[in-house]
Amino acid sequence: MEELLKEKWNTILDAIRSEFNITQVSFNQWLRPLIVFTIDGDNVLLLYDDNEGADLGIKYISKRFKKALSAFISEAMDKEYEVSIISPDEAKQYTGKRRELVQQKNLASSTMKNISLNPKYTFENFVVGKNNRFAQTAAFAIAEQPGSSYNPLYIYGGPGLGKTHLVQAIGNYINETRNDLNILYVTSESYTNELIDNLRTTQNATAMAKFREKYRSVDVFMIDDIQFIADKHSTQEEFFHTFNELFQSGKQIIITSDKPPKDLQNLNDRFISRFEMGLMADIGFPDYETRKAIITRKLEECDYELAPEIQEYIAANFKSNVRKIEGALNKLIAYSKLQRKPVTIEIAIEELQNLITPDMPREITPQLVLEVVSEHFNVSVDQLTSKNRYQSVVRPRHIAMYLCKTMTSCSLTAIGKLLGGKDHATISNGAKKIEEEMLIDQELKRQVEAIKKKINPN
Ligand code: ADP
Ligand code: MG
Repeated sequence: MEELLKEKWNTILDAIRSEFNITQVSFNQWLRPLIVFTIDGDNVLLLYDDNEGADLGIKYISKRFKKALSAFISEAMDKEYEVSIISPDEAKQYTGKRRELVQQKNLASSTMKNISLNPKYTFENFVVGKNNRFAQTAAFAIAEQPGSSYNPLYIYGGPGLGKTHLVQAIGNYINETRNDLNILYVTSESYTNELIDNLRTTQNATAMAKFREKYRSVDVFMIDDIQFIADKHSTQEEFFHTFNELFQSGKQIIITSDKPPKDLQNLNDRFISRFEMGLMADIGFPDYETRKAIITRKLEECDYELAPEIQEYIAANFKSNVRKIEGALNKLIAYSKLQRKPVTIEIAIEELQNLITPDMPREITPQLVLEVVSEHFNVSVDQLTSKNRYQSVVRPRHIAMYLCKTMTSCSLTAIGKLLGGKDHATISNGAKKIEEEMLIDQELKRQVEAIKKKINPN
């Protein structure tokens, strides 16, 4: 059997190469060094015959080609085979016992290795602009030296601005360069669900101990969208322990959120100070140039061409969410594939209309104003309508008064009611204050204009 496989080996490699469209360089790098070492029962042991690159090579091949290798070998030999890839060192020491060890090791690493990372999120395809340069630099520094640069890294910003992309790029980078580290990526929702499942399905302590063990044995821990655990008390408690243990043993922690820690309502103060001890990096809206660069990059990725004026049209109209830019591109690509004709600027305008301006102009209500102001300043609606006198709340509150007064048709009394039971004079004074200050304060004026645009983009 072994001889037969050795005879067929080159043919098998060639078949894999053409099936996967592997380039010559890539083939030489990854598949060429593989030779048939031995067959043991249902297991084919392939030797990665290159001492230098063995660690990285074996990891890479296992991830990308192990299934294919096993399928193509099975087909050529007309019998089902599993595949293990071993290094020259392992081959030297090969005995029955050693084989067991190799298998166990493969098993252990495949269960521990993180499967939820999306390989398409890499640093290479993350477009860097003014809005995310700091976050990207911090992320890259951490990817190169986890645990020793900044801990924790806290990345925050609005939806669709690349937070998940960036943290997963850290994970993918570490996965490729360091196979000694265990990486764990979770969303705070899946963390919560897993915790609840463990609490619910078992009364005994074993499952909880396992849960804790799993989280505490990682070297790089990434938790995405932490805002979802902020108002769940028991999850927060458990997370606090996870966080502390990892932190104290110098493990890298990376957190993302839609807001800075101090704006997360219900987040325990203990967290706020711990998060703030690390590095905070925000991701803002991409500027026009960055949006254009993102569009160019995405089109390259899917090998599709769009006239420059269409690209410019998209860049000019989708300003605050990269996911929506992708949505717009996908819509146009789908259109041209279905209709079998190229997209013109007229078609683009027509097709994207609904994505840019909703069919029905939305009614401008004080509630809407409050929500937009709240989002803009990262101050909750509750704070806006409270009696809180902090400057960070008072200013947004006055702006909300001004915008309610000038943009809606509500009476001052009704606005006052909505803003936490204030009388009409308070609203009138607040609005006047902003009106007057805008005459001398250009920055404030710009800010108010920006919020107005968000409330009414037309
Ligand atoms: P968030 O987690 O902040 O909501 P995501 O990371 O999911 O946002 O990003 C939404 C989409 O936009 C993803 O497909 C991502 O690849 C893309 N994206 C966001 N920012 C960038 C960027 N700077 N360069 C390239 N793609 C980006
Ligand atoms: Mg995300």
